Amino acid sequence: MTDLTRLSAADLAGLLASRAVSSVDATRAHLDRIESVDEDVHAFLHVAGEKALATAAGIDQRRAAGEQLAPLAGVPIAIKDVLATNDMPSTSGSKILEGWLPPYDATVVRKLREAGLVPLGKTNMDEFAMGSSTEHSAYGPTRNPWDLERIPGGSGGGSAAAVAAFEAPLALGSDTGGSIRQPAAVTGSVGVKPTYGGVSRYGAIALASSLDQVGPVSRSVLDAGLLHDVIGGHDPFDSTSLTDTWPSMADAARAGLADGALKGVRVGVIRELSGEGFQAGVTQRFEESLALLESAGAEIVEVSAPSFEYAVAAYYLILPAEASSNLARFDSVRFGLRVDPSDPPVTVERVMSATRDAGFGPEVKRRIILGTYALSAGYYDAYYGSAQKVRTLIQRDFASAFEKVDVLVSPSAPTTAFKFGEKLADPMAMYLNDITTIPANLAGVPGMGLPIGLAPEDGLPVGLQLMAPARADARLYTIGAALEQLLEQKWGGSMLSQAPDLSATEMFASEEGAV
Ligand code: GLN
Repeated sequence: MTDLTRLSAADLAGLLASRAVSSVDATRAHLDRIESVDEDVHAFLHVAGEKALATAAGIDQRRAAGEQLAPLAGVPIAIKDVLATNDMPSTSGSKILEGWLPPYDATVVRKLREAGLVPLGKTNMDEFAMGSSTEHSAYGPTRNPWDLERIPGGSGGGSAAAVAAFEAPLALGSDTGGSIRQPAAVTGSVGVKPTYGGVSRYGAIALASSLDQVGPVSRSVLDAGLLHDVIGGHDPFDSTSLTDTWPSMADAARAGLADGALKGVRVGVIRELSGEGFQAGVTQRFEESLALLESAGAEIVEVSAPSFEYAVAAYYLILPAEASSNLARFDSVRFGLRVDPSDPPVTVERVMSATRDAGFGPEVKRRIILGTYALSAGYYDAYYGSAQKVRTLIQRDFASAFEKVDVLVSPSAPTTAFKFGEKLADPMAMYLNDITTIPANLAGVPGMGLPIGLAPEDGLPVGLQLMAPARADARLYTIGAALEQLLEQKWGGSMLSQAPDLSATEMFASEEGAV
């Protein structure tokens, strides 16, 4: 019998629609997989086994009654813990929200439920989505399924690891500076940060509101497109939500599989996002992918984006500034934790201070202090004001690049997965890791990360990032699916099928150089 956890969401959806497989069986297979591997991987903070099976049974009944259901109905999904769910705790990886049960669902979660997807549980993340490794989770890190001694990326390491370890075919993530794309890169999965405003942020616990976007995590470009179609579109509850009518991203992905899809596509390689500081194997796989695109008729052009050099600096002022303001709502009164001061008097201010001291971890405190400082009256222009000017320059760099090319490409991350502890003590090293992903958030343009092979020196996944102009998300799906098809033809299958089978007693050794 087919292992249901190894199927793509699209294939599983096909089997469900034809009733060859029931949603209860598909859900149970994933819960069993979670049971057998998640003690090691720790992708989940909360697993809602019984609820998932009940939801699945409901879908099966409706289907048996002849009801026409949405394309992904009955397919299990994991949800990043940054998203409010009214039937599962939502902690954003923080002790300050331990056990918090939101009174409502995030819009994207409501849309999942309406489309009949089956939530399996909530995934681990760096506290309040601050980090690139999940080491800042208050509940312990997630481990990379390719090597349990290494980080799965962050902040959405849980969602990426859940998908890469076959615990869920799909997951939701959020990306403020790369938290969908960088975990995708280091786990060999696919992740998309949509155009800012393309997917609702209502019910996504805010990190930096002008940068945050919710998006899909999957094992194929088509699967990401199918999920994007479910969660995308206007939401009156989100004041920054675009009112556009969007094309189907799944159809855009399918269009990429046609012959000649890459003919004449102008692909811009960003000079500033390559070369020095990039791991040799990452650069090698990236260049091979460019050659592959070129062999299929794409035109490779080098473009320069001189302001990208300042992107990390600008981001690490804008993000803490917005985060310090957003996190002011955790005041010990309205949400979650309340800690009384150890000695009297018990004043509002002292309760607030004791609660925030106990409830926030060191990275969150660091960013609140940085953000408060950057926004303080005497320094506002020098720091926050300058960072906003850099943001404008970055937007202009994108605009002038997109006059010459259809998409921009770079490696998704400078290196493959690093070891636990390697960057934890040095916040700057952790921040610099985001160099490739941050520009897209500052400009609001969409970005997709997809796997392009294993680095020869360490056998770990390498990702390529595609970026398109705002609102042109569909272009990412077409070109992404075309590249994915070329790579899979070369490898004779998907890259993730080479990942270690964590449930086996002996690890599956991937053949040297096969991918
Ligand atoms: N690593 C980035 C940060 O720490 C990205 C965060 C995110 O996208 N949520 O801010």
